[in-house]
Amino acid sequence: LKRKKQNPTALAQRILDGNKSALAQGITLIESTQPNHQNDANCIIASCIPHSGKSIRIGITGVPGVGKSTFIESLGMLLLQLGKKVAVLAVDPSSSLSKGSILGDKTRMSELTKAEAAFVRPSPSGNSLGGVARKTRETIVLCEAAGYDVILIETVGVGQSETAVHSMVDFFLLLKLAGAGDQLQGIKRGIMEMADSIVINKADGDNLKPAQLARTEFERAFHLFPPKPNNWIPKVLVASALEDTGIRPIWELILEFWNHTQTNGHFKRNRDAQNKHWVIQTIEDRLIQDFYHSPGIKDGLEKTLLAVQNKETSPFAAAERLLEVFKTKK
Ligand code: GDP
Repeated sequence: LKRKKQNPTALAQRILDGNKSALAQGITLIESTQPNHQNDANCIIASCIPHSGKSIRIGITGVPGVGKSTFIESLGMLLLQLGKKVAVLAVDPSSSLSKGSILGDKTRMSELTKAEAAFVRPSPSGNSLGGVARKTRETIVLCEAAGYDVILIETVGVGQSETAVHSMVDFFLLLKLAGAGDQLQGIKRGIMEMADSIVINKADGDNLKPAQLARTEFERAFHLFPPKPNNWIPKVLVASALEDTGIRPIWELILEFWNHTQTNGHFKRNRDAQNKHWVIQTIEDRLIQDFYHSPGIKDGLEKTLLAVQNKETSPFAAAERLLEVFKTKK
C-alpha cells in the first residue's frame, strides 16, 4: 500500500501535534538516502528545531547481554508512571554491516512498544557510524518537537558508537555486570571517563553480593579520576532490570545530575559544545565525501598511491597534488 506523499509542512505540523505515525514518517524521511526525501527531511527538521531541546537525553551503553533492553523497558515503564513521554532510539552501526544488529529488534521492549506515551525506534541503517549517528541526532529533534520528555538512546559497548552517543546526550549511563576477579579489567578507561553513572545490572539472586562488591570497586575507581569539567562525581548503583529493583534511584540520580548541571551552567555549555561539534563534524564528513567522489580524485588517487609506492613522489607532495586537483576540478 503506497502512502500518499505528504507535504512536509503538514507532516511537521502533525509531528508538533504529537502524532506518532507522523513522527515515524518524518524519521523515515531523515533516514532515506533519496535526495527529494532529504529535502523534505530538512524542511521538517527546520520546523521542529524551534520546538526541540526540552527533553533530557540519556545514553545507555553496555556489552551485548548486559540487559540494556530489559533495563530500558524497566526505566521506561517507570517514567511512564511518572507521567513522562519516553522515546527510545538506538545507534547500532553493526546492523548495516552484518545485516543482523547487535541490539536486535525491539520486540524485547514489548510493554514499552505498546504504551501510548512511548515511542520506540530501531537503529537507522547506514554504512558509516557517522551517518547512523547523524540520523539519530536529527531524530532526537523530531522526538522533542513531538513532546517526548525523556529520550533514551541505546548503543552497544563496542567500537566507537559510545563516543558518538556520548556527544549527543546529557547523561551517559554504563551498564555493567558483576564479574569474578578484577571488576575493572577489560573496561576501557575512555568509557569510564565518559560515564556519569555505572549501574551494575542483574543484581538479583546469588548475584546480589558480587554486584555490591563491584559497586564499591567502581566507586573507588571513580574517585581516582580527575574531576570532570561539570564537577559531577559519577555514582555507581546496583539494579535488577529483570526484577525491576533499583530503577527508581537511577532516575533520582539523573534528576540530581540535571539539577547539578543546570545550577552550575554545565548543562547548557555541554549542549552548546555538542552543537558546535556536530557542525564541525558535518562539515568534515561532507568535505571528505566530496573529495573522494570528485571526478579528478576518483581516477587520480589509485595512480598517485602507486607513484608513492614506487618512490616517484613523496606522500606529502602526492597529497598536495590531489588536494590541488580537488580544488580546481570541483
Ligand atoms: P542487551 O543485549 O544488553 O539488550 O540485553 P537484554 O536486555 O536482551 O538481556 C539479556 C539477557 O539477560 C536476557 O535473557 C534478560 O532476560 C537477562 N537480564 C536482563 N536484565 C537482567 C537482570 O536484571 N537480572 C537477570 N537475572 N537477568 C537479566
